[in-house]
Amino acid sequence: MHNEPESRAMEPKGAPRGREDGQGFPTEVDTVVIGGGVAGASTLYHLAQDGVEALLVERGTVAGGATSAAIGILSPPVRQPFHEMARHRGIDVATRVWRFALDSVAGLAQALRAVSAEDEAELDLSGGTVLAEPHTEHEVREAFEALRGAGFAVRWLEGAHVREGLGGRGFVGGYLIEGLGSIHPGTTARALVRTATMGTATVREGVSVTEVSRDGDGLVCATSAGVVRARSVVHATHVDGGRFAALLNDAVVPVRGQALSARLVGGGSFSGAFSTDRKLNLWRTTRTGRLLLSGWRNDAWDRAYRRTRADVDPHLQDDLEAWFSQAFPGLRLTDVHRWGGIFGWTADFLPLVGGLPGRPGEVAIAGFSGGGLPFAFACGRLAADAALGRAHPADLDFLAPERFA
Ligand SMILES: Cc1cc2nc3c(=O)[nH]c(=O)nc-3n(C[C@H](O)[C@H](O)[C@H](O)COP(=O)(O)OP(=O)(O)OC[C@H]3O[C@@H](n4cnc5c(N)ncnc54)[C@H](O)[C@@H]3O)c2cc1C
Repeated sequence: MHNEPESRAMEPKGAPRGREDGQGFPTEVDTVVIGGGVAGASTLYHLAQDGVEALLVERGTVAGGATSAAIGILSPPVRQPFHEMARHRGIDVATRVWRFALDSVAGLAQALRAVSAEDEAELDLSGGTVLAEPHTEHEVREAFEALRGAGFAVRWLEGAHVREGLGGRGFVGGYLIEGLGSIHPGTTARALVRTATMGTATVREGVSVTEVSRDGDGLVCATSAGVVRARSVVHATHVDGGRFAALLNDAVVPVRGQALSARLVGGGSFSGAFSTDRKLNLWRTTRTGRLLLSGWRNDAWDRAYRRTRADVDPHLQDDLEAWFSQAFPGLRLTDVHRWGGIFGWTADFLPLVGGLPGRPGEVAIAGFSGGGLPFAFACGRLAADAALGRAHPADLDFLAPERFA
């Protein structure tokens, strides 16, 4: 986790609760969090840990947005391979990014264990495997070597060992990242929200925020259920932040991904969390033995880029399934359930977390580029700190929204 911030511009008030209108909707709180996905849930959790009177407003249900589309893989934390990030941005930045994500996962695990929610959240930190195919072997090996060189706990797996262990074909090796694995996204977000509401947080589902405006030193959120005043507002709205701040519209691009769940015929299940290079394919089996498979295709931008509706794309679904069948010819999928979902993509594959430039009191947490689960918990801490007026830690400059201003 990042260092304790030096400044504490705004301490939580710990004010008495109960400032509500006639319909029971809060009219004044310290912080409003807009959006109840894993980002908003993590932020709310940390605000409540600090005793902040916070209100989370979700237009649908908690964990009903992109978080419900995710299949729960925590590894690798970033789509861009480690060695490539190190080459483009320097080994120091790449190392800080990975450390941040690993600490985030460890912090999340600790938080879930503290409320005995690790089973409900299907927490599995037995390791995340990145597999190499013949055409990606060089790149996967380079990523492994760079990670090992930077001191991360990674282990190379020989091709024969991988093929034998997984019953697949075509894989020529891979590496295992210790401390990562998988989690159930929806139950995790709900557990964080539930924990927060045992403290100083309140949640209203089925309520849309329509406008955020300034009134003196404070902010006013107009919602479909009433007006609430706050000292800070956190935009955890995934790809829908553009209506509140142009920066979020420009920096977070919707890209549609595909996923399926199926029963495996032919025996076996996968133990652990798996991905291929650049997270083109991700998969795991649930505790009930169902396969969860997800992916995107970098040669299908026309079918995915700037798509905002979470439609099922039969062409990309076929492609995903065909890839799986070729990789694991002994396994057949049955009872297949398919869905689409939206990634919030940024130009550098990293989220924007922190105060919005030129908008005092407004904070963003968005743009996870298809990998929100390993980052969200620590990003929630950072968003909560920003909502309390604490300075953005200098060593986490790679997350600051200013980089896209
Ligand atoms: C197919 C697919 C598979 C994925 N698999 C993985 C995976 O294995 N591992 C991983 O790490 N990531 C995965 N992801 C990415 C992951 O889903 C996201 O990074 C993460 O869920 C984003 O969380 P969020 O809280 O930012 O967004 P969301 O979960 O979408 O939450 C935002 C919420 O804001 C609400 N909202 C928006 N506007 C308003 C408003 N005006 N008023 C009130 N509420 C509002 C929405 O209703 C929504 O519930 C996957 C994504 C897809 C599409």
